[in-house]
Amino acid sequence: MKRPRGTGRIWTKGRPGFDDAVLATSFNGRDPGVRPQILVEANNTSDVHSALSHAREEGLKVSICSGGHSWSQNHLREGGLLLSMSRINKIEIDADARIAKVGPGCWGIDLDRALRKHGLFFPVAHAPDVALGGFLLQGGFGWASRELGLATESVIGLDLVLADGRTIHASETENEDIFWAARGSGPGFFAVVVRYHLKLHKRYKFVGMKMQVFRREYLEDVYRWADDVGPDVPRSVEFQLVTTPKAMLIGKPGIEVLAPVLAHSRKEALEALRFLKESPICHKASFTTPLIPSSTSFMSSVVNFTHFPADMHWCTDNIWTDALIDDLLPGLNHIADTMPPAPSHSLWLNWYPPKRRPNMAFSLEATRYLAVYGEWKKPEDDARYFPWATDCMARMQEHSRGIQLADENLGNRPDRFMADENLKKIDALRKVYDPNVLFHDWMGRHDKHTSAG
Ligand SMILES: Cc1cc2nc3c(=O)[nH]c(=O)nc-3n(C[C@H](O)[C@H](O)[C@H](O)COP(=O)(O)OP(=O)(O)OC[C@H]3O[C@@H](n4cnc5c(N)ncnc54)[C@H](O)[C@@H]3O)c2cc1C
Repeated sequence: MKRPRGTGRIWTKGRPGFDDAVLATSFNGRDPGVRPQILVEANNTSDVHSALSHAREEGLKVSICSGGHSWSQNHLREGGLLLSMSRINKIEIDADARIAKVGPGCWGIDLDRALRKHGLFFPVAHAPDVALGGFLLQGGFGWASRELGLATESVIGLDLVLADGRTIHASETENEDIFWAARGSGPGFFAVVVRYHLKLHKRYKFVGMKMQVFRREYLEDVYRWADDVGPDVPRSVEFQLVTTPKAMLIGKPGIEVLAPVLAHSRKEALEALRFLKESPICHKASFTTPLIPSSTSFMSSVVNFTHFPADMHWCTDNIWTDALIDDLLPGLNHIADTMPPAPSHSLWLNWYPPKRRPNMAFSLEATRYLAVYGEWKKPEDDARYFPWATDCMARMQEHSRGIQLADENLGNRPDRFMADENLKKIDALRKVYDPNVLFHDWMGRHDKHTSAG
């Protein structure tokens, strides 16, 4: 993803540069074949007011983007006004109060770098250029989120522009219902976030990663073992399995066992990773690295380079699951056998959420998370590869508790993504705060998404 350059402009359909400007709002190189009427690149809150006022007068529906990392390109809809918030990305840090005020266009890596100087930390996303805008609305599985909570749990307030043009602040004590909705409604949120107020955490003293690589033939052994140890893996470890046609260090189909750890000392990190050392299948690994000291920024950059390169075409889908591993293995084998070429991959995340979370819209998760990411370079392969992710997850539907909005694909496979009562509450709030339906909600719910696939 390229950083926004220069002052934001207004682009109108049919004028030179319009198509390029619209497609540049998206991390995904795929052209879904739909276009807004107008793209407004906001430079400040006043531009947001003007854009919404124009949309109201002209009867245009509004979609919003910040970092453009929605896999499904949720902001690209037919007609209407597209509001880009990528230039509203200022970071203000009050280190003594451990609070930051940050624009929605701010990339995770920029916030992380700014906080490093103060010895502070925020659970930003695992890819450097994911912006806070969409990341925090959908929940936000960030670095250390198993320990610190979803990133949205560290949001203490938001400055917002509502559909009627009012600017408000929402927090636990002010406009509580909007605050509740903002923490988990993701691409179904019914207002524009112009600033987040964030609670900051103490920075970890030791960050590192240990990795093991297995050949494809050991897939069942690896998943069975991961499933077995999963509940007891310390919360400081982000234990995950990445199945790929080209595993790191061996360059062949295989499973990368990745164990990033965020701790307060190397000793603590080594202790947390003991389950890897004591693994009964470690002799089957083609490769095991030592615990390598690193930083979250560096690991994010490596992940982007190896698994999420820029300008690729993508398909994505996911399930939360509590199913037995024996029931999941046929689906996991199918994913490995049918995956488009590297760097396509699947992610098995050992999640095991805490028993309680704050009362917020985010309300659906399970012990394990499985997501598939198909990637290809050429537009002519869109039709061939695009259905893959949906097909894989549809096959495993009976084992799914629902989906996570981070990797949503609702336009192609609608499914449950929050508790039913929470969805009802958001629908009711939308009627109050966006009665004329100025903003789009989740794809695939009320309006048809036209995809190229
Ligand atoms: C390579 C990659 C890695 C990722 N890694 C992670 C990860 O580690 N953890 C995780 O939880 N997720 C991750 N995601 C998912 C990501 O967090 C979501 O796609 C998120 O929505 C992206 O935010 P964005 O602002 O960059 O995207 P956008 O596409 O700009 O936004 C997504 C949607 O959020 C809404 N939105 C955005 N900005 C605003 C705003 N200012 N006001 C109101 N609504 C707004 C809109 O509905 C928009 O369509 C990853 C995605 C990619 C592509």
